[in-house]
Amino acid sequence: MNQKASALLIVGSMAFDDLELPTIAAKNVVGGSATYSAYAASVFSPVRLVAIVGEDFPSGDLEALSRRNVDLAGIERASGKTFRWAGRYDTNLVGRVTLETQLNVFADFRPKLPKSYVDSPFVLLGNIHPALQIEVLDQVDSPKLVIADTMNFWIEGEPETLAQMLQRIHLLVINEEEARQLSGQYNISRAARDILRRGPKALIVKRGEYGALYFDGESTFFAPAYPLEEVVDPTGAGDTFVGALAGYLARSGDLSGPGMRRAIMAGSAAASFCVEAVGTAKVGRLTISDISARLDLFRNLMHVAHDTSLSAS
Ligand code: AMP
Repeated sequence: MNQKASALLIVGSMAFDDLELPTIAAKNVVGGSATYSAYAASVFSPVRLVAIVGEDFPSGDLEALSRRNVDLAGIERASGKTFRWAGRYDTNLVGRVTLETQLNVFADFRPKLPKSYVDSPFVLLGNIHPALQIEVLDQVDSPKLVIADTMNFWIEGEPETLAQMLQRIHLLVINEEEARQLSGQYNISRAARDILRRGPKALIVKRGEYGALYFDGESTFFAPAYPLEEVVDPTGAGDTFVGALAGYLARSGDLSGPGMRRAIMAGSAAASFCVEAVGTAKVGRLTISDISARLDLFRNLMHVAHDTSLSAS
């Protein structure tokens, strides 16, 4: 672990997922946005987790997080059942439908930060009610970087609270469909221009197997997803992407354009491991050397030698 890495506060869901994948069905898979993001971020920086679980959440999974430098002081174990999500994927693993969402203890979640979290310099607000995202920000001193995720449900149902949340963050990370819905613009570059007017200094639009686009009003960057031969389970890829990106930034402290590009590639590399196994099986064991090896593959994938014969003389 880099001694200079700053702490990253992550708030989000911890869950049991029931997954219907093209060839297998997997039940009671430990997941949730905070779980994926925390594992991915912990490759790079210490993590402070804020989430709620029920009595049925396995202690072994909390211990596994704790062994990876994830501080669990902000985890509330409430009486009742853990949040549960069920989804079915298409045969091509691109489309997915939600079969069931059981909020359970998540319904009464009011994030309370332990005193030891208040000075967190980096904050990742996972996809929860925007009012709760704001409540988290109200409890931290003055973070250097605030990253947030959200989803169609909040864009549709809580537009005013979401608008307030957008005023309080630096970087918004959403998928393509959500960017269109939030902005009312189909074209992604126009959508980005609109969203940047609403508060965030920068925006990342995730496009699944087609990678991610970064916009900060001055420059645009494209990061591909790694073209894997076998994708097993895409669940949590987005959370892994943003977790690794946030952890990388907490470690480097470099928020410049080139620094953001490196962080985005770290996110893409981590997400490419996540989808290779069911649930957190791979992301829970990721190391810096795994990421580094995949970044070498990415460099090779993206390298184009300069054709000097085309240079203007
Ligand atoms: P992703 O594949 O990156 O969209 O994330 C999937 C994870 O999000 C799963 O592990 C789910 O448990 C979690 N999830 C699904 N729906 C919700 C929701 N409404 N609120 C919070 N987390 C959710």
